[in-house]
Amino acid sequence: MTTPPVCDYEGSDYQTSFWEQGGRAYEDKAEEIALRRMLPDKGKLLLELGAGAGRNTPRYTGYDRIVLLDYSRTQLQQARARLGDAPHYIYVAADIYKLPFINALFDGATMIRTLHHMADAPKALTQVRRVLGSNAAFILEFANKLNLKAILRYWLGKQSWSPFTLEPVEFVKLNFDFHPKAIRQWLQELGFSVEKTLTVSHFRIGFLKRTLPASFLATLDGLAQLTGDWWQVTPSVFVKATVGRDSISSYTDDPLHWFQCPECGAHPLDDRGDHLHCPGCDKKWAFHDGIYDFREAME
Ligand SMILES: [Zn+2]
Repeated sequence: MTTPPVCDYEGSDYQTSFWEQGGRAYEDKAEEIALRRMLPDKGKLLLELGAGAGRNTPRYTGYDRIVLLDYSRTQLQQARARLGDAPHYIYVAADIYKLPFINALFDGATMIRTLHHMADAPKALTQVRRVLGSNAAFILEFANKLNLKAILRYWLGKQSWSPFTLEPVEFVKLNFDFHPKAIRQWLQELGFSVEKTLTVSHFRIGFLKRTLPASFLATLDGLAQLTGDWWQVTPSVFVKATVGRDSISSYTDDPLHWFQCPECGAHPLDDRGDHLHCPGCDKKWAFHDGIYDFREAME
C-alpha cells in the first residue's frame, strides 16, 4: 500500500523554537479560546492527531482518556516527559493515512495545525471518520488559502495562485493551505455535520503583535472568532464537525482492544510485552518507552 509523503518533525525543537521563543503567545491563547468554545463538556476517549509535544493536550479536560498520535517519536517523548503516562494518556507513533485503530472507537478527535502537512487531505480525513463512533465531535483546524493577505497579494499581482479556487495550494514543500468550502465539502461527503466554524488569528500581523499584549489581542480575537460562521478570511480556521448519535460505537475500556494492524487491519493484536503481534500478517509493532510505534514493523 502506498501512502502520500509525510511531514516528519523527528528530532525537531518545534515546541521550543516555534511556540515558546517564537513570539506566538497570541496565537496560542487565541487557539485556547477557540478550543474551549468547541470542545464537548464530557467524553470517553479523544484522539489528538498531530499531538506534537502536547501543547494543546491539557486543554482537553472533559475526556477520560486521550490518545496522543504523532508521526514523530521524539515529539511524543517530549509530550510524555511533560504529561506523564497511562492510564490517562496513551502515546502512539503512527501515520495518519494508516491509523492503527479499530472502526468507530473514539467519541472525539482534534487535528490542530496538522492537516496543512497532508498532501492528500481527503485521504487523511477518511481515516479520521473511520475511527470515530456514535455522537463523536471532530475539531479540525486548517490553514486558510482564502485569507486577507493572500487576497490582497493576488489582487496586487504579487502572487500567482488564486485564493478563490477550491484546490489546495502548496506554498512551501509539504505545507498546504485549503479553501474553507473544500473542507466543508470533504467533511460532508464523509457524513459529518458541520456544526460551527470559528475564524482564528485575525491579528497575525507583526506590528500589532509587537505593540499590543498577547492576552489583549487574544481577547479581541475571541470576539472576532464568532463571525466565523459567516465569512472566513483569517489565516487559521477551526471547524467543529459531528457524527450522528445513531451510528455505532466500538469503545471498550481496555486499550489492547483499541488497536488494529495498520498494514492488514487484523485485530485484536497480541500483547507480547515489548511489542504487539499481528495475527493476520505476523508483523510486530514495538511498544518502547511508553510509546506504541506503528510506523514500521520490527525486524
Ligand atoms: Zn497485520
